[in-house]
Amino acid sequence: MQPGPIIFLCFALAAGVLAVLVTVYELRRKRFEPEPTEDRVFRCGDCSYVYTDDPDVDQSRCPECGRFNTPFVF
Ligand SMILES: [Zn+2]
Repeated sequence: MQPGPIIFLCFALAAGVLAVLVTVYELRRKRFEPEPTEDRVFRCGDCSYVYTDDPDVDQSRCPECGRFNTPFVF
């Protein structure tokens, strides 16, 4: 058996795997793109620590001092 076709097959296989990976990456990117980071930004009124929390919480406890803060509006 000649090495030529085997090498070609390896390249074809690698190209196929690469194509699948790119497709999966694109699908994942599209799925996450419409919602960049929906996390709410909080800024502590006591220690000025800036942190984020889930978008569905109205009040979040500061990880530095424990004070509850309302979302920071830009
Ligand atoms: Zn704080």
